[in-house]
Amino acid sequence: MPKDSKTSKTNVAARQEAKAAVQLCRFCGNKIDVVMTLSLSGRKQMVRRCCGAKV
Ligand SMILES: [Zn+2]
Repeated sequence: MPKDSKTSKTNVAARQEAKAAVQLCRFCGNKIDVVMTLSLSGRKQMVRRCCGAKV
């Protein structure tokens, strides 16, 4: 994706939409925390966490 201002504005809107659609834990029903982590190979990973474990 090219990094110009128009695209980033679109990305912000898309992120807000994604935030609005919150996923709920299938075990406790709370919102799932999504954490950005770096894998050993240096890639970004989205890890969903709740109830002390990966969901
Ligand atoms: Zn949970």
